[in-house]
Amino acid sequence: MILMNDFKTEPAELRAAMLRAAQRVIESGWYVLGNEVAQFERLWAEKCGVSHGIGVANGMDAIEISLRALNVGPGDEVVTTAMTAFATVLAIHRSGATPVLADIDPDTALLSLESVKRCLGPRTKAIVLVHLYGQLAEMDAWVSFCDSHNIFLVEDCAQAHLASWNGRFAGSFGAMGAFSFYPTKNLGALGDGGMVVTTDDEYAVYASKLRNYGQRQRYYHDHYGLNSRLDEMQAALLMERLRYLDQFTESRRKIALTYAKNIRQNRIEILSTPTQQKSHVYHLFVIKCNERELLQAHLKSHGVDSLSHYPVSIHHQIPCIDLKKDPKGLGYCEEHARTCLSLPIYPQMENSDVETVINAVNSFRID
Ligand SMILES: *Cc1c(COP(=O)(O)O)cnc(C)c1O
Repeated sequence: MILMNDFKTEPAELRAAMLRAAQRVIESGWYVLGNEVAQFERLWAEKCGVSHGIGVANGMDAIEISLRALNVGPGDEVVTTAMTAFATVLAIHRSGATPVLADIDPDTALLSLESVKRCLGPRTKAIVLVHLYGQLAEMDAWVSFCDSHNIFLVEDCAQAHLASWNGRFAGSFGAMGAFSFYPTKNLGALGDGGMVVTTDDEYAVYASKLRNYGQRQRYYHDHYGLNSRLDEMQAALLMERLRYLDQFTESRRKIALTYAKNIRQNRIEILSTPTQQKSHVYHLFVIKCNERELLQAHLKSHGVDSLSHYPVSIHHQIPCIDLKKDPKGLGYCEEHARTCLSLPIYPQMENSDVETVINAVNSFRID
């Protein structure tokens, strides 16, 4: 079976480096928020082209802490996409703010600016822009829109590590950027992890207090914060994995190019190719098919795993039924949820695996 991810096929040198890093942490006798975390925060912030990185426990907390560091909370509305991981909306809810759901652009499945405009109100304080599947698009338009409306831009970069737009990286456009290092993400830990990035010194200080009980120094608490700290072990492992990120990203892009060139099936549509080569890091490669369940079964019978991201739009999730949404409805989200399918695209896929996936997709027929 060609799986969605297969970590056991990662380079032996990477595994050896991780074992050395793990040993270093074990022997250091210091396990939470220490030198490894501080070093990784500096490295990741530098990679993203921002001044500060604040290591946190996971990507969902990174979004919540980003919002709270901007003083977005009860009474405020935050507009985001209804086609995202549930964590995006859960994080907004946890901040105390009220999520408002906007529709997507059907060609990319990214948040639609036109739809966002219909979702604005006097209480709109922030937009959480999700770089879905690893794509950055029209960042100039988002930045100028948020600036001119006095709305904070918070980037959900959980799927978009080092995706760039006109040479600038994901996380460097908004007031805050939120990363996840969940194992399946493009840069993944061997457990949970996340990071808040920002170039604003005050937001950075607030975020670093919030992640650790709201304390400014041990036992002196300025806020009701969270326990959302990053482990030394994960930071040390992430630094080893970071050395491979560029190479892994190139590998994902190469597979995506091969898919885009060779997938030919009149019942299947591929999401539009990015307008800039570096704007997509292919966390996922997504196709659309009206007979999605049949296609998925067909792929499985040919030894190819697949998953839908996401089969249920946020406004159809039980706790979200009554959330405010685009008055025109969320028709593109609904269509996408019904038809989308993600194909395997992990960096270690062999050429023959890629070929197997293409042949399996192209041989799909309906009697
Ligand atoms: C994975 C993900 C998150 C949440 O990250 P966790 O580390 O799992 O909490 C948030 N948003 C998006 C778009 C994601 O893909």
